[in-house]
Amino acid sequence: MRMGSGRRQPPLAKFGAGRTYDFREGSKPTHEVEMDPVLGRPGIPAFTREQLCQDRRMADESVADRLRGFGVKGILVQMAERGQILELKCEMPQCYHPNGRDKFESLATERRLWAPSRDHYPILSSAGGKLRADNVRLSHIECNQRDHTRRKQIGALLLAGESLEGIADTLNRKKTPAFHGTKRWTAAMVREAYVS
Ligand SMILES: [Zn+2]
Repeated sequence: MRMGSGRRQPPLAKFGAGRTYDFREGSKPTHEVEMDPVLGRPGIPAFTREQLCQDRRMADESVADRLRGFGVKGILVQMAERGQILELKCEMPQCYHPNGRDKFESLATERRLWAPSRDHYPILSSAGGKLRADNVRLSHIECNQRDHTRRKQIGALLLAGESLEGIADTLNRKKTPAFHGTKRWTAAMVREAYVS
């Protein structure tokens, strides 16, 4: 291929409009090569910092938007906007939604069992924990409620001197729903429900 200058030009790989780079070993970049400011080498990186930041903002907005779509306001939306909640997923140690942690319903639904809720964590509300960004995890209303009820039940029985085995028997007798996917409480499950 002869160009206007009469000099033979190396084959160029196209990177986009007006941007090219010669991949042949030992060959010198043409004047058209642009150094990438992020990678410090020629060519266009797969993602520039700017693009990554933009993607991050879009991801954050989508979690916040989805929360708003479910009728949620306040701390959870704020946290999602700040990139403090990465995905819409129940973060409770035990999730009871039959179809998975990432399935939610709107607060406008009648029973609201599976609508998003904020769980006080790591300092429980009963221990004086506040609803602040450093003390909130995303949950289903139902999972949050069950966790709260179990802790109260188990705590009271522990205080009364009951063994974990005895507490498991009590929960089974009262037909208290066990962990998702299991039918009966065991001593180990009782302990896990209390310390997780
Ligand atoms: Zn859940």
